[in-house]
Amino acid sequence: MPVLPDSITALIAALHKLPGVGPRSAERIALHLVQTDSAVVKQLADTIVHAREKIQFCTTCGALTEKSPCSICADTRRDASLVCMVEHAVDILSIEKSGTYRGKFHVLGGKISPLDGVEPEDLRIAELEKRLKQEPIKEIIIALGTDVEGDATSYYLAKRLARKGLKISRIAYGLPAGSGLEFADELTLSRALEGRREMTGK
Ligand SMILES: [Zn+2]
Repeated sequence: MPVLPDSITALIAALHKLPGVGPRSAERIALHLVQTDSAVVKQLADTIVHAREKIQFCTTCGALTEKSPCSICADTRRDASLVCMVEHAVDILSIEKSGTYRGKFHVLGGKISPLDGVEPEDLRIAELEKRLKQEPIKEIIIALGTDVEGDATSYYLAKRLARKGLKISRIAYGLPAGSGLEFADELTLSRALEGRREMTGK
């Protein structure tokens, strides 16, 4: 039986750790790379390292950005009274693609899930409470997924963030049950935003 050289086996293992790359794809990519012109491979490696070194999290909203505050937080034409709360930084891209939202964002960084050891303190809730004191926020739109943790986290937030003059709403359930924003198409997302419902926090 032919055995792959150790360096190829190591490359396959490393690629297999990437999201969406199964064992077959990892093998195919690895075998492709080791047979590609080395200058091209070097450029790919440099691009990966460069992107990783450039990208940071916005200290205000948690978005992926090259400088903090990010372009959305710094954009004075956006509606600062509206903050859309999402689970992950990539969810911002999904909502931005829907093209209808003109407010700001806040990345929570996960969902409360005691079974997975994720407690409220592990999420960026305190950061949002700080923003509530400093920014003219009138409404928080909770745009978490519609699974059990998404529901529990939304209710927890509605309760904890409840204060006078602040409306807390949640995007409509046009989203497929149990799924996250990344699976929703643009039209579904903009409808979900438009059809948001107020949460009472009780
Ligand atoms: Zn930001």
